Amino acid sequence: MNSVDLKHWCAGEDDRRTYLREPMLHKGFAVATNGHVIILVPVLEGSSAGLATPNAGVARFIDAHGFTEMQELNPLSDSIQSPEMSTCTECEGTGHVTDLTCRECNGKGTVEFENAYNDYKVECASCNGSGKTRLAGECTACNATGKRYRDHDFVDIEGIKIQPKYFNLLKSLPGNLSVQGAPPSRMLYFHSTEGMRGAIMGMDTV
Ligand SMILES: [Zn+2]
Ligand SMILES: [Zn+2]
Repeated sequence: MNSVDLKHWCAGEDDRRTYLREPMLHKGFAVATNGHVIILVPVLEGSSAGLATPNAGVARFIDAHGFTEMQELNPLSDSIQSPEMSTCTECEGTGHVTDLTCRECNGKGTVEFENAYNDYKVECASCNGSGKTRLAGECTACNATGKRYRDHDFVDIEGIKIQPKYFNLLKSLPGNLSVQGAPPSRMLYFHSTEGMRGAIMGMDTV
């Protein structure tokens, strides 16, 4: 029944909250969250092996928002769409970047300065001593696609402004989707007729 890749909803490998990197099990649901989005997928009996137990904070969050009891919400209109992606400014659309020499240390990796008492030579904090603020290779800003959303792009659903990438994640779910915005907490709750439910945290735009 569920064909959701929960990895997309988990925290990434570079996230220091290691406990959010893998799906968890709570009250018969597989739970995945990265702190900005959370999804619960009903697990079939006997298929919960390998799922970790959420820590108290995550469990409390799930219970406080009633995700396990959540019913259908307001139908999500098909007219709501993601904005167009723009050419990535980091790689100028090529998907690849070249080395970028650190401007603070001119590529030396160290910075020297002096005062009335001493001369100092310290590791450059801008490049951590490497002399480069960017290494040649695939563009990480756009995952080498050459296109990406601008920082302030958003999709407005029920008064909640969510990041386009999270909107796309929501739209990738199977079943008919319904949503409900909660402006005071800046959260967009969602529910799918296939049993998935959860929430997306809105952007803090002024
Ligand atoms: Zn430097
Ligand atoms: Zn790029």
